Amino acid sequence: SGARVRRAHGRRLPQYLERGVDVKFSDVAGLGKIRLELEEIVKFFTHGEVYRRRGVRIPGGILLCGPPGVGKTLLAKAVAGEAGVNFFSISASQFVEIYVGVGASRVRSLYQEARDNAPSVVFIDELDAVGRERGLIKGSGGQERDATLNQLLVCLDGFEGRGNVITIASTNRPDILDPALVRPGRFDRKIYIPKPGLIGRMEILKVHARKKPMSDDVDYVAVASMTDGMVGAELANIVEVAAINMMRDGRTEITTDDLLQAAQIEERGMLDRKERSPETWRQVAVNEAAMAVVAVNFPDLKNIEFVTIAPRAGRELGYVRMKMDHMRFTEGLLSRQSLLDHITVQLAPRAADELWYGKGQLSTIWAETADNARSAARTFVLGGLSEKHYGLSNFWVADRINEIDTEAMRIVNLSYERAKEILLRNRKLVDAVVDELVEKKSLTKQEFFHLVELHGSLEPMPPSI
Ligand code: ADP
Repeated sequence: SGARVRRAHGRRLPQYLERGVDVKFSDVAGLGKIRLELEEIVKFFTHGEVYRRRGVRIPGGILLCGPPGVGKTLLAKAVAGEAGVNFFSISASQFVEIYVGVGASRVRSLYQEARDNAPSVVFIDELDAVGRERGLIKGSGGQERDATLNQLLVCLDGFEGRGNVITIASTNRPDILDPALVRPGRFDRKIYIPKPGLIGRMEILKVHARKKPMSDDVDYVAVASMTDGMVGAELANIVEVAAINMMRDGRTEITTDDLLQAAQIEERGMLDRKERSPETWRQVAVNEAAMAVVAVNFPDLKNIEFVTIAPRAGRELGYVRMKMDHMRFTEGLLSRQSLLDHITVQLAPRAADELWYGKGQLSTIWAETADNARSAARTFVLGGLSEKHYGLSNFWVADRINEIDTEAMRIVNLSYERAKEILLRNRKLVDAVVDELVEKKSLTKQEFFHLVELHGSLEPMPPSI
């Protein structure tokens, strides 16, 4: 795309920028009339001056509302792609999970970067995670969210009418958003994206079939009819699974049958997500319990607020909420050891899967947290916190990338062993937490710490590196 990133001398490279976003409206199918509204948003960028001259106010933010997987993120990218502007994104759950106090500073840097590299689209995924009406949250978690929310409001107001930075947010719950967020000049335009109907599903299947070797006689109507209630993400998946099916059979074209079989697999998966089997509940519980049990060993992560395996927003498997010690954390500033501890916690699910289910039965349940660990380890190395102290000035030199990754991998491996060690020492505690999670689905702070008292074996951990 035509977007350029300015790299002023000495300034950090933007952290929230997604490079190479090259999505066009033609990649998003089944939109019907919604497309016109989005084309207008593109015009705010390309013809901003005309709007301003005629006194037409450009909205501060656009809210894309709809269930997960209908293409909200894809659409936001398409707006940036069509307008040829930079795309900055963050998931609002990143504002609020785990570290208290970091949220507001992340919002500030996100907007700073977007402004420095304007014109740009700022995309906030799952806005309801931070924008929930204030009265609805109690306790200190609420205060944290307030600080983040207030910062977001300040940033949104700062851009009113300018039109060179436009915020697009997605939510499945526009009804619970703080009224301050939807006031004029802020998220004052709502676009609803429903699940696709029969025609929509057919079009989405076809978009994803474009890059695949489809047989000429594929019956898209049949596949679309079979997939009632499914969203774009699931339909995209069906095409992928069908392609794998074809490869496995050593054929060169994807047939209607491949698609129908894949649709059945997707359908079953959909049911699993709603109606988990006892084994699945237990496996999710092992993962979440492991995170909580490892975290409770670390001074800055031990403030577990609650542990749950109830599905949230149809996406995550479970959720552990930790509150960090405020005194030791100025905004956005983690101590070296805390960052290492954080990495260890993120590896706990993977370690638990190995310890509880064995190497032969590893699932991919931990993929997301392992990913967090990996990127935190890179941050650690890039920030000059590892023994080797990479200087900040030269960490983008290409020939050092391997070195950085090697060092990040070493840190991940060490942390992984550390997670295993803690889990082995606390087997009984993990089992007890798992049993209660399976039964109750969620544990309060009190319930969790009661089990820690009964079964925990917490020893001060020596510094890891
Ligand atoms: P959301 O943000 O609403 O949760 P995403 O935009 O992340 O959904 O969708 C995930 C993926 O599903 C997309 O990257 C795309 O491959 C596919 N997808 C979803 N909706 C559509 C659509 N309307 N047209 C084409 N592909 C879609």
